[in-house]
Amino acid sequence: MSQQPHPPADAATAADADADAADIRQDFLHAFLLDPARHSPDAPAVVESPEAGRTTVTTYAELRAHTAALACALDALDLEPGARVILEADTTAPALAMLLACSQAGLTFVPVSPQTPRQRLNTLLDTVRPALHLQELTGSRTDVPHPVGTARFGRDGLTVERAPERRPPRRRTPCPTDPAYIVFTSGTTGRPKGVVMSHRAVVAFYRGMLAHRIAGPEDRIASTSPLQFDFSLLNIGLALGSGAAVVPVPPQLVRWPRHLLRVLREAGATQVNGVPSIWRQVLRHEPKRLAALTQLRGVLFCGEEFPLPELRRLQELLPTARIVNCYGATESMACSFADVPNPLPDTTERLSIGTAHPGAEMLLVDADGRVIDAPGTVGEIHLRSPALFSGYWGDPEATRATLVPDPLCPESGQYVLRSGDLALRGPDGAFRFAGRADSQVQINGNRVELGEVERRLAEHPGVTAATALPVPGPGGGRQLAAFVVLAAGHAPTDTGDLWTFCAETLPPYMVPQEIRLLDRLPTTAHGKVDRAALAAEAGAAAAADVAGSAR
Ligand code: ADP
Repeated sequence: MSQQPHPPADAATAADADADAADIRQDFLHAFLLDPARHSPDAPAVVESPEAGRTTVTTYAELRAHTAALACALDALDLEPGARVILEADTTAPALAMLLACSQAGLTFVPVSPQTPRQRLNTLLDTVRPALHLQELTGSRTDVPHPVGTARFGRDGLTVERAPERRPPRRRTPCPTDPAYIVFTSGTTGRPKGVVMSHRAVVAFYRGMLAHRIAGPEDRIASTSPLQFDFSLLNIGLALGSGAAVVPVPPQLVRWPRHLLRVLREAGATQVNGVPSIWRQVLRHEPKRLAALTQLRGVLFCGEEFPLPELRRLQELLPTARIVNCYGATESMACSFADVPNPLPDTTERLSIGTAHPGAEMLLVDADGRVIDAPGTVGEIHLRSPALFSGYWGDPEATRATLVPDPLCPESGQYVLRSGDLALRGPDGAFRFAGRADSQVQINGNRVELGEVERRLAEHPGVTAATALPVPGPGGGRQLAAFVVLAAGHAPTDTGDLWTFCAETLPPYMVPQEIRLLDRLPTTAHGKVDRAALAAEAGAAAAADVAGSAR
């Protein structure tokens, strides 16, 4: 940060002030994550192995120096604190340095996947009005509209292509309450929702997470989540916050078991963090190679429930690994960490999601707003935490629906996160996840609002009605299906055309893998779309496919 407090008059006060300033700096993302550079500058911070036989190590000292150089280049652009910067990149050492540099320069980064469809990127640009668009030297994004400035970064620094507009700065000093980043998730209204996280919130989350001692300085933590999802920021926080190294796995390699295992082996990963579905193909096709990775001592999963048969198989293949179930949502980065018992008892039907991390508290609230204390009763998780998001960018209504007055003491002015997740308390006091209270679903660990997919389909001129549903996928897991009714008199639309139409604005994981044309959508006695009937039909078809392919 360029602005420093004025030097105080006498030396003793100056030393105190320096110590105080250091404390405050610790509440900024970059200062917190680069702290190991002070005492272990030569320790690896990032280990990359994008290709066989090519492993690159970036030390903490190098990461700090790279961050400082990029922050200096950003400072020279004279953007005011809180200005937004689109960071269109996968997780790499330069991208990590760049996000830390944004933090150091007092700018808010918005991580975006290089695979983002153009129309969706334009929607994000309209929404957050960034000052600058950043991509790596190899990035292929072109035609970023005026007046957004454009620049590229790499190990050698920042190259500005189009300088951002200069505006008279209204602010001078970054505050820990400033947004550190905005992560976009699927939104029910058909527009992606921007979750704004302050420096203070994300650092509070990191502190709570680190209290679980999931990793130590010797660890190398593989992060399999793309940078645009906050799970990757959790992984970065866990690694750097523990003085360990992060091993970014390039997104195009994660789904290929041999490539994934090669990266883990060559980078010396000791822990793998990812959604449960990253393991499905590995367990099926490469169990021996996985079992041979004896250096793996930890697995952390998040995003959805781990199918128990697959989890048991993972335990068989990695018998000494500590497996941690991390539960939570982007709006608080996550919230709880629970060790999976090893071996998992045969009687286990639902995994524990534990209790909130130190400094936070989960409450269960019933439909009438009353707090549930008794074990065994399902309620909606409400989270009290210093790590809550600030709000949805530009969407006060959605924010009010999610950040709600403390149900125990609304007078206090304290807000808690209404998660939309259902859970019950087990006899041990720990929580068990029990599904969603709305139509948000997880597809291979990716959060999808069915309403957003349905709205996109309904925008097609040939469509009168559309319902999207998660259905069983051919190789296990779930995939997204859409049931579509075409407008009367409209020439039969090819489902491929509908697919392309969806892919123009939706990220790949939200484009239905299966689109079925129906004459009408079945309805319940109340006249609502009968989702259960559609799900049953899709389930029967999937079962028939499996039976057919087994014959
Ligand atoms: P994340 O990046 O943590 O997956 P998202 O915001 O994408 O966060 O999705 C959050 C939702 O995912 C939660 O509200 C919950 O419904 C589901 N979820 C997250 N973690 C778990 C888990 N460990 N077990 C079951 N469901 C989970």
